[in-house]
Parts: sequence; structure tokens; C-alpha cells
Amino acid sequence: MDEIPKSHPRYHSLIIRKNLVDAFRQGIVVPEGLIAHGRGEALDYILGEKTLEPAYNAIEAASALLLTSENPVISVNGNTAALVPRELVELSKITNAKLEVNLFHRTLEREIKIGDLLKSYGADEVLGIGSDASETIPGLESKRRFVSRRGIYYADTVLLALEDGDRTEQLVKMGKNVIAIDLNPFSRTARAAKITIVDNVTRAMPLLIEYCKKLSTRQPSELAEIIRRFDNETNLKMMIKAIRDRLSALSFFEVV
Ligand code: ATP
Repeated sequence: MDEIPKSHPRYHSLIIRKNLVDAFRQGIVVPEGLIAHGRGEALDYILGEKTLEPAYNAIEAASALLLTSENPVISVNGNTAALVPRELVELSKITNAKLEVNLFHRTLEREIKIGDLLKSYGADEVLGIGSDASETIPGLESKRRFVSRRGIYYADTVLLALEDGDRTEQLVKMGKNVIAIDLNPFSRTARAAKITIVDNVTRAMPLLIEYCKKLSTRQPSELAEIIRRFDNETNLKMMIKAIRDRLSALSFFEVV
């Protein structure tokens, strides 16, 4: 493929596409993942491809929750592995969170490839591969139901991105704190999660790392207060308002 010129106005967006296509060719991303990315891209275009204020609030609350959880787990799928492998590993180390592969289109080959990719970025252990995913999330029919006993099954907090609503809802029913990164504030995942970061995973992950480092010296009571103050429904409403305001500003016509 031709080099993408740095001066291109959509440079970052094109690099993300290139990374995903490369990962698709390596068997890490499935074609459906490329389509899911397209939906995210459209929403990101409306956000102006930047992190908006409500997302910063969600990132702060998510960081406080990760730091105070006893058994946090980061759930990894093909797209997140392709887009932010280094950050997934770094965040897992800072927060003592386990990394677990969890795929909708699950094959052992792809699980192993994703595990190896994360290990090449320094992950010590990657759960959810092959027979390690021996537990089942109740009420779920997709292959996403298979999880690791030491990982998602046992976790008190699960961080996930590009997730389908079914699993998010079931994880919440199991009593888990779900933190979701999802560009779609209207999705079932966004509405079911305890904390939803409406932002591109490529921006949200580095920010999560930055906030976790910053908050790591705070007292547990201060972190608990940050979590207590956060309300997902209110935050999603603020996000939808921010999107409406941007659409109004972008429109050449009077918006009614
Ligand atoms: P739900 O089942 O929760 O209603 P859905 O059917 O839209 O959601 P999927 O298609 O499985 O769920 O997941 C894709 C989701 O991930 C979409 O909401 C899309 O906006 C979002 N998404 C895609 N790319 C990114 C990205 N780079 N960063 C964050 N979110 C993304």
C-alpha cells in the first residue's frame, strides 16, 4: 500500500484504517470488525475526532474504578488488539488488571494470534485462550459466553470496547462493574455499562493510562468519591447534547 502522507487532513483516520486492514490480513481482525469500525468512524466524524468533555469525566471515573477494583479484567477483541496493543498491556500493568481475549467470532487460531500479539508488547499472561475459557456467562448464546474462570468470570470490574450489548447486559446482571469504550452513546452497551467512555478507543486508552498514573497516589476515599459522583445516564445525556450542539454548528441550514 502507498505511504499515507503526514500532511493529509485525515492522516490519523487513515492510519487507523491501515492498521485494521493489516491486522485483518494477519487474521487478527475479522471482516465484521471492519464494518463495526465503519459505524464507529461515522460517529467519530461527528465528534470532530476529539475527546469531548463528558468523555474526560468518564475516563476519570473509570480510572478511579480500575484502581480500586480487586480483580479488574481488560477484555480484548480483534479490533482493540489491532488498534491499541501497547496501551492494553500498559494499562493492565498499571492497574493490575488481567488481560483476557474474548471474541464474538471465536477461533482458537485467532485467540492465539491475539495472545501472541499482546505478549510481543510485554504481556506476561493472556487469559481466555482455548480451554482456559471454560466458564460460561449465563443467558448468552454467542461464543462471547466462554470466559476464563480466573478472568472475566471472577472479575469485579471488566473494561471492554467495541462490545455487543448482549454480553454487556449479562455481565451487569452477574454483578460486575462494566466500563465500556464505545463511540455510540445510543448503543445497548453504552446504556447498560456502569461507566461509558464515548470516545475512540485510540484516544481513550492513552488517556486512561494518563489518568490512572495521575490518580494512583490518591487516597481510596478520594477515588471512591470520584466514582460516587459519576452517573452514566447523566453523562450519556451530556454527550448526546454535545453531539447535537456539534451537528447544529456544522449545519448550513437552520436546525429545527
Ligand atoms: P449494541 O449491541 O451495544 O447496541 P452494536 O450492535 O452497535 O451495539 P457492535 O456492532 O458489536 O455493537 O460494536 C461496535 C460498536 O463499537 C459500535 O457501537 C461502534 O460505534 C463502536 N466502535 C467502533 N469502532 C470504535 C473505536 N475505534 N472506538 C470506540 N468505539 C468503536
